[in-house]
Amino acid sequence: MTMHYQQPDRSRRSAALFETARKVIPGGVNSTARATWAGWDPYPIFAQSGTGSRLTDVDGNEYIDYLLGLGPMLLGHRPPAVTRAVVAFIEQRGTVFALPTADETTLAEKIIAAVPSVQRVRLCNTGTEAVLYTVRLARAFTGRRKIIRFEGMYHGFSDSVYWSKHPDIAKAGSDHAPRPVPQGPGLPAGIDETLIILPWNDVTALRDALEREGDDIAAVLSEPIMCNTGCILPEPGYLEAMRALTRKHGVLLILDEVITGFRIALGGAQGHYGITPDLSIFAKGLGGGFPVAAMGGRADIMALVEQGRVSIAGTYNANGIAISAANAALDELARPGMYERLYAVSDRLREGLERMVQDLRVPAHVVGLGPVFQIWFADRPIRNYRDAARHADHAAFRLWWEGMLNRGVLFHPGAYENLFVSFAHTEADVDQTLAAARATLTEML
Ligand code: PLP
Repeated sequence: MTMHYQQPDRSRRSAALFETARKVIPGGVNSTARATWAGWDPYPIFAQSGTGSRLTDVDGNEYIDYLLGLGPMLLGHRPPAVTRAVVAFIEQRGTVFALPTADETTLAEKIIAAVPSVQRVRLCNTGTEAVLYTVRLARAFTGRRKIIRFEGMYHGFSDSVYWSKHPDIAKAGSDHAPRPVPQGPGLPAGIDETLIILPWNDVTALRDALEREGDDIAAVLSEPIMCNTGCILPEPGYLEAMRALTRKHGVLLILDEVITGFRIALGGAQGHYGITPDLSIFAKGLGGGFPVAAMGGRADIMALVEQGRVSIAGTYNANGIAISAANAALDELARPGMYERLYAVSDRLREGLERMVQDLRVPAHVVGLGPVFQIWFADRPIRNYRDAARHADHAAFRLWWEGMLNRGVLFHPGAYENLFVSFAHTEADVDQTLAAARATLTEML
């Protein structure tokens, strides 16, 4: 396989910086998704800067960026209103006080106004933390122990949920009843007994699990759109069934909207699909590129936090940088016509790609909603992780990725990640991307 970006004239500096980095940073990177084994083989591209929809690497290559920092750069790189707000806050007021500020209340009010299921909200820094707090709260509220999770989803790297992200299916139990598989060594034994792993988009499996063990289940934790095994949409009626079944069994429904929140709509994917969860988690879409996350939901559940029974702590929670960034980002997102424009640009890209693979008779299909999507190189529909593990053609995806990168279009090299469109992408970006796609797909035929 040709590694186009390995050509010395295109990536000499990235290669050299990687050699230096790996001597002091294990794997040369600070997060798994950036590692060689996540697809950035033989070395990742080193970033120099970003502006709007464009990213420039250290070798001076410019890309149309659909990686978007794996999601946070929803407003594009360096959105001026967010940058201005953060700089002003730091210069005029500070960063961390260990005292509340009025700005936190303003942000909480904005989140509650945008997402009706959220009656009370707590702020923190990352999706991982928000998941951790939410799962703890669900257990405390219900007095139950187990959490239902779905194979192929990712809810952050905490020991309690970092299981069965992309397990080897030969070792992960049956299709109907997958077994929890730890995401590598170091996760304490015994946690698997607190998890029930199910196939997604399978109402029968969910109903059976709830009927069998409902009294011991605190919550169902799910993304509303499966965004961590490529992009898989919920089948019609699935989320509604999830809501009805959890309610019937007194099990809390937690929607992890770390990716979908403020991206699919201002009210998240839950707003788009009309599903009201008990608790929700937000992160990447919230902060205009700065680390900020939120968890919240029903007032009677969040009351456990109010009464101090469930402790949610953090030195950096609601720090000045995070709060000023999120306040400015949400003001941008709430401007009239923003999502209409985002959808117009995104739909043009997704639909253009879908038409192209059909015209060229490439065995692939484009799956997504609005600004989140992936191309599945597969000869059949993918409705859950097992389908992906069996039928996704990773070698074809690799060729596609390399061809696009070489033509100035950046996204993650993993078929299980997504392409993200930002509010900064333009129709001209889309046209350029479609031209690159036609050349790449034609070359692959
Ligand atoms: N939940 C989902 C759905 C995610 O996609 C991620 C990160 O990709 C997380 C949680 C963890 O968020 P963070 O990386 O901010 O800890």
